[in-house]
Amino acid sequence: MTIGIRRVLIKRSVIESVLIYAKACHPKEGMLLLRGKANKDAIEVNEVMIPPLSVRSESFSFFPAHMLPIDLSIVGTAHSHPSGILAPSVEDLNNFYGRIMIIAAFPYDSESNIIVIDGKGRTLNYEVVNEG
Ligand SMILES: [Zn+2]
Repeated sequence: MTIGIRRVLIKRSVIESVLIYAKACHPKEGMLLLRGKANKDAIEVNEVMIPPLSVRSESFSFFPAHMLPIDLSIVGTAHSHPSGILAPSVEDLNNFYGRIMIIAAFPYDSESNIIVIDGKGRTLNYEVVNEG
């Protein structure tokens, strides 16, 4: 039995921003904060935010989550894998912040280069919301 996030809705502009940002940062890792709404079993991602300068670093492994501003609208994070590996690393899971994590792997061309995971590293299905 699975208890956890049942529904993930991500605006198309968020998917596009993550891919564009990942490309712009390549070959370094890029990291974004995800803002939206969350309740017990559903997450809605509406926009991305570039983290404050103080928390950016060359490696996501050293991402100091405790230095982030307290903002309840942050539902998770997104970052890129320049290596092309479309799976969370041990560091990713140890540094998990929020409810979901988006990983975009090189070459960052489309949704097929993206996965969404929960804090246990399980891949979540998500729906892309087209803005009207
Ligand atoms: Zn990673």
